Amino acid sequence: MISKISSLKNNLKIYFGFDEFLPNQEKIIHSVLKGKDTLAIMPTGGGKSLCFQLPALTMEGTAIVISPLIALMKDQVDALLANGISAAYFNSSQEVEKQQEVLNKLQKNELKLIYVAPESLGQLEFILKNIKISLFAIDEAHCISVWGHDFRPAYKELGKLKNQFSEIPFIALTATADRATREDILTQLHIPQAKTFISSFDRPNLFLDVRPGRNRKKQIFNFLESHENQSGIIYCLSRKNTEKLAQDLNNKGFTAAAYHAGMTAEERSEIQDNFLNDKTPIIVATIAFGMGIDKSNVRWVIHYNMPKNIEGYYQEIGRSGRDGLPADTLLFHSYADVMLLRKFAEESGTKEIQLAKLERMQQFSESLSCRRKTLLSYFGEHLEDDCGNCDICKNPPQYFDGTIIAQKVCSAIARLKEQESINMVVDVLRGAQNAQVYEKGYQQIKTYGAAKDISWRDLQNYVIQLINQGVLEIWFHEKGRLILTPLAKAVLFEGKKIKLANVQQLKQKKTTAEKITFETDKLFEKLRQLRLRLAKEEEVPAYIIFSDASLKDMVKKTPINYEEFSEVLGVGKAKLEKYADEFIKVINRHFDLKQEKLSSHHYSYKLYQEKGLSLKEIALQRGLSEGTVFQHFLKMYKMGHDFDFSSFITTEEINQIKKAKKELENPNTLKAYFKYFSEEMPYHKIKLGLLLSEE
Ligand code: ADP
Ligand code: MG
Repeated sequence: MISKISSLKNNLKIYFGFDEFLPNQEKIIHSVLKGKDTLAIMPTGGGKSLCFQLPALTMEGTAIVISPLIALMKDQVDALLANGISAAYFNSSQEVEKQQEVLNKLQKNELKLIYVAPESLGQLEFILKNIKISLFAIDEAHCISVWGHDFRPAYKELGKLKNQFSEIPFIALTATADRATREDILTQLHIPQAKTFISSFDRPNLFLDVRPGRNRKKQIFNFLESHENQSGIIYCLSRKNTEKLAQDLNNKGFTAAAYHAGMTAEERSEIQDNFLNDKTPIIVATIAFGMGIDKSNVRWVIHYNMPKNIEGYYQEIGRSGRDGLPADTLLFHSYADVMLLRKFAEESGTKEIQLAKLERMQQFSESLSCRRKTLLSYFGEHLEDDCGNCDICKNPPQYFDGTIIAQKVCSAIARLKEQESINMVVDVLRGAQNAQVYEKGYQQIKTYGAAKDISWRDLQNYVIQLINQGVLEIWFHEKGRLILTPLAKAVLFEGKKIKLANVQQLKQKKTTAEKITFETDKLFEKLRQLRLRLAKEEEVPAYIIFSDASLKDMVKKTPINYEEFSEVLGVGKAKLEKYADEFIKVINRHFDLKQEKLSSHHYSYKLYQEKGLSLKEIALQRGLSEGTVFQHFLKMYKMGHDFDFSSFITTEEINQIKKAKKELENPNTLKAYFKYFSEEMPYHKIKLGLLLSEE
């Protein structure tokens, strides 16, 4: 077992360049290797692909990977090829010749993995019966379930597979984890016994902020000012909105591009590339953007409109902070969004489910307790303590006795015969003098103007709180009219007390994650440029060459030889052979340039202290004599830097130099010492000995 584990780890390093598994990866891989059907549920960025890619490498035959998006397939295959793994994809976007070429390879057992769109699976049926298959992987497996948020009819066909290939292990993977979908995936795929692994969905580095959606543009401008030069995504509901907002941002001097499914494939891929390569830091997009994007340094995600369910929301914010560094997320919500989303839900084929999901989303955005707790409980995970990294935790609400306000609101609703929506109820309570009120004669009712002293916004917020506390219900399906619940009757007639959160205080909340500064390291920039050039030459996205995390690791480790380079995150055998030379060159040149500007002795010192190179190695690498390098050390030492000279000179030698100093008639020249030691002690050692004997 131990040797098996270590060989797995070896393969992890050799093929993917990683030293450690991410949570659950190893267990999942073992399950697959044992031939078991497996369901892996992991958040976005959790490392699902590796769970089938690594077993595929060590098992006999070809792994068949079902993937819903052509762009996603191409990306993953590119990434595998870059790691020296033989893989291909098969889908309708390919020319017939290309398809034939892939089929030939498949038939000849030349592929470790083949990615197939579910729609194209039928075309492979005959070949699959005649080749050795290692495993089936169903990526984005929630697409098979109508309970999921992304149902794809073609996924239904996959149900037949297990019957045809009952001996072959299946692994289904998804980031959608609600129980109903989870069970449905197993049923639909006919793998009811599958071993299920659920990773924690907690992403503690994401700051969760939720705000009412008024003045959102202004709020966004403010937000962006404190996130200068950082990459981020703004999600909007409508295509038109993405274009408008991107335009507004550009007018304000930000660099932003819109992205939506109405654009041509070329336009979209260009926008996406510019985002990946940091040319366009801000993308304003519909949810068409982002699936399968592995950009590690997305620092923030804003939802301009409320997403239609929590799964979508979590997946979208999950695209930020993949590198584990702090990231900001901001969700705006409004009743106008809710009304629109309800309309979509009602028009969908699965109305009840979609409406229920929307309601959960709405509850989340209006909740007054720790956001992360609410969010994780949706995925069946229960946090012990409040997270300390959301708007509510940063600024917990304070409550006051709101019984009288509640009574006024309930009474107004009763007098309006439960026929009116929030806005009208608030208007009436505040004694608004507008046409709608007068038309209906509401200025006559008893509670008209009863809450004049409370501002419109605050009162609206209290009504929402009453809805969330179950005192009122909002009937969205009937124009959002407000209904009294039995609890409201208790408020009106039985003296039930109601607590409300202080709105004024909620407004002043602190709303960004701890400020972090990202030094735009010059070396990082040079490495990025090199990556960009290589990516262009190879016609792949930049992160296929190396991820940002890899580049960051290079900046940290400043590898200057193969051995060091192989230790960089994401450097496996293939990338070591292919890229080490060029990247090492850039790193070396960077330091050489730097030392010209700073000082040569500083650079030698750095190589010695930080990189642990020997005097000889430094001299060789820098093309200097050993004596010169040694002078550098001495200079640094005199300038007060730490230096341990014990490997350069022995105590005995220092004593000999001391002795010579006493015995020499003219001990003022180094040459005199040199002669004294019969030209056998090098000058630099004499110098060092003199320096040290002075102390
Ligand atoms: P998911 O499909 O779960 O969203 P991916 O498979 O795309 O996630 O992986 C997310 C990122 O994590 C990728 O950049 C991948 O290279 C990286 N990754 C995967 N496994 C490891 C690991 N063991 N160590 C470090 N990074 C990893
Ligand atoms: Mg994935």
